[in-house]
Amino acid sequence: MDGKAQLLRDDYCDGLGDCLPHCPTNAITFEEREAQAYDAAAVAAKKQGKPAAFAGCPGQRAMAIKREAQSAAASTAPAESCLQQWPVQIKLAPLQAPYFDKAKLLIAADCTAYAYARFHQDFIKGHITLIGCPKLDSVDYSEKLTEIIKNNDIQSVTVVRMEVPCCGGLEMAAKKALQQSGKFIPWQIVTISTEGKILD
Ligand code: SF4
Repeated sequence: MDGKAQLLRDDYCDGLGDCLPHCPTNAITFEEREAQAYDAAAVAAKKQGKPAAFAGCPGQRAMAIKREAQSAAASTAPAESCLQQWPVQIKLAPLQAPYFDKAKLLIAADCTAYAYARFHQDFIKGHITLIGCPKLDSVDYSEKLTEIIKNNDIQSVTVVRMEVPCCGGLEMAAKKALQQSGKFIPWQIVTISTEGKILD
């Protein structure tokens, strides 16, 4: 890239450094950081021109999802938002608000609303909605969620997360918050597949 070599997959590199003296333009340098372990099978597959198995985080695996073409009626049907409050981001939500009174609380991972087509009708409707991404927000949601559950008369908690492991942080934070609140509130976890289905 721009005349410089870039290592695109950590697991293709065994760290030997044999490439350094062979680079004609001295464009290759080493950096010291945490990296994935060398994967000999991935290198062999690459050499044979086969697609190597994805070795990184499943939540970052790129994939195309095939869909049936929607009927004209379905694609032009009017859709109403079911959102009942603002803001929706956990990081921006107040610790106490009138709309939390007797609320059914929905705690949803950011990606779920994009993956699951009927998210408004099936999850947001009748709920106070809080969203966040446990991978990218880099905060411990459990503290704030604990305060919200403690300070308000919450009737139930529904957590909607994606199936990928990175989304488990939201489920963990919600469960921790429920425990720390000291309240006994009905709760459920719903997991959405990357293809947009509810998993059992
Ligand atoms: S943690 Fe959940 S919301 Fe965040 S990127 Fe991964 S799947 Fe999406």
